[in-house]
Amino acid sequence: MIEIHKYQEVTQIKMSRDIGGKPLYWVAAYFIDGMLVDTGCDYTSKELCDLLQKYDVEFVVNTHYHEDHVGANYLIGNTFNINIFAHPKTVCLMKQKPELYPYQEMVWGYPKNYENGIPVGDKINTLNFSFDVIETPGHCDGHIVLLETNKGWCFTGDLFVSENPKVIRPEEDITQIVNSMERILNTTKSDLVLFTSIGRIVENGRSALAECINYLKNLSREVKELYQKGYPISTIRDMLFGGEGPIYQRTNNQFSSENLIKSALAANI
Ligand SMILES: [Zn+2]
Repeated sequence: MIEIHKYQEVTQIKMSRDIGGKPLYWVAAYFIDGMLVDTGCDYTSKELCDLLQKYDVEFVVNTHYHEDHVGANYLIGNTFNINIFAHPKTVCLMKQKPELYPYQEMVWGYPKNYENGIPVGDKINTLNFSFDVIETPGHCDGHIVLLETNKGWCFTGDLFVSENPKVIRPEEDITQIVNSMERILNTTKSDLVLFTSIGRIVENGRSALAECINYLKNLSREVKELYQKGYPISTIRDMLFGGEGPIYQRTNNQFSSENLIKSALAANI
């Protein structure tokens, strides 16, 4: 299923596999002035492609290679015969079938391999807007965000989800996440609106990023102090987060507070 929301000149396209008429998990793509940012998952690829017949899509940019961001690349690239740009690492990763956990296969499914991705440059221009392409690893390798400094728009992919994340995946690295968020703040002094992939549009984006950076730095300090006092990682997790929440089992043990504690302990921030 698809929901459309407008914000200024930006069209948000929220997509979810539906089971029994109910959405399973929303992921958002954005359409701005001929550019489509991300393409959702495989389950919604046909629906998105049909919807885009009404839009004048000139090209696509992927924020990263995950299956809920590139799922309709193959169909859209071939249907509209348009270019799909991404970070060079993402261009390579999109050519391969990813390894998915059962929860990912159920919620998003396998994307079709996409062979024709084009490495993105430092800037992307549409007719009316100009976007800085900022390399922002941390959620995964090859992650980029798009920043329109005149409008203050920042399309953040999966770099930013909330101000106070409680769980991360094992491959996520909070040192890189903090550095990436600081890179965005240092690129512009303007106020920011964050367009996130979970569908949240955050109007006080500058302070939201600063709050997240502050939270992760404080967490790292706290974790290191407790570890030096001799507490094991699992005990620190229980002390700070009260154990794992339901998302831990729902994601085949991938999203965990213990991952966050480990990354906070190893962090250099
Ligand atoms: Zn992702």
